[in-house]
Amino acid sequence: MQYKQIKVNLLINKITKKDTLFAGNYTIDPYQNCEYGCLYCDSSLDKTIYIKTNAADILRKELKYLDQGIIIVGSVHDPYQKVEEQTKITRALLKIIEENNFACHILTKSNLIIRDIEILSKIKDCIVTLSLTSINNYISKIFEKNVPLPKTRLQTIEKLSKAGIKAGLADIPILPYITDEEVNDIIKSAKDYDAKYFLYKYLELKGNQKLCYFNILKNYYPTLIEKYQKLYHNSYFPDIKYISKIKNNIDKLCNIYGLENKILKEEI
Ligand code: SF4
Repeated sequence: MQYKQIKVNLLINKITKKDTLFAGNYTIDPYQNCEYGCLYCDSSLDKTIYIKTNAADILRKELKYLDQGIIIVGSVHDPYQKVEEQTKITRALLKIIEENNFACHILTKSNLIIRDIEILSKIKDCIVTLSLTSINNYISKIFEKNVPLPKTRLQTIEKLSKAGIKAGLADIPILPYITDEEVNDIIKSAKDYDAKYFLYKYLELKGNQKLCYFNILKNYYPTLIEKYQKLYHNSYFPDIKYISKIKNNIDKLCNIYGLENKILKEEI
C-alpha cells in the first residue's frame, strides 16, 4: 500500500438524482481509494491511497455557498480507514459540518468512528451506517480481511445508539449463494444491537471487478462459478428474479423484526 498526500480544488459533489438508499444531497470523500481492501470492492483495486490534506479548508469554503442538506461522508471510500487514526481529516470535516449546521450521514465499516462520538452528538442531524456482508467470521475474513470483525461493527452500532446517534446496519453487498442465506440472522443481529434501520444492496460487478470476483470464486467457491455466470449473464447486476426474491424476503423480515428498511428522510 502506498500513501500520497494531495491537495484538491473541490471536495463536495452534489447529488443530482434523488438518493433513495442513503438519503443524501451531497457527498464527500476525505480519501481516494481504500486500504481495507475488501475483495468485492473496486475502491481496493488501486493500491495507492490519496490523502486529501486540504479537505477541511476546501469544505469550509464550499459550505458557504450551498443550501442546507445532508452530506454523505465516505460515499465511495471508507472515511475511517486506518490512515484516519493519524491524519484526523474526517474528524476535522465533521467539526466543520457541525459548525455550519449541516446534517450528515457517515458510511463506514470501522469502530474508529467511536473516537469522534462527541462531535457526532453535536451535529444537527447525524446518521451513521455500519456495513457488513456477513456475520460469519470465516466468510468475513475471506472478503473483508482487514476490516474490524462483524461483531465489533455491531457493537459500534450499539454504542452509537446508546449515545443517542441514529445508527443502522447495511448488508452491502449481499453475495449471491454465499451470504444471502444469512439475511435473517443479519437482520436479527441488527435488531439485537439496537440498529434503527436496515439497508441492503446486492453485489454489482462492474468493469474489472467482474474478472477479479470470478478469480475469488475460483479460489474459494469454485462450484458457484456456473451459477454466477447464469445470474450475471451479460450484466453487472444479478437477474431481476433474484433481486425481487431478495427484496421480498427482506421486506418480510424487517416487518417481523420491526426494523425500517430505509432511512426516512422526513425524520432527519
Ligand atoms: S471498507 Fe468499504 S470502501 Fe473500503 S474496500 Fe471495503 S467496501 Fe470498499
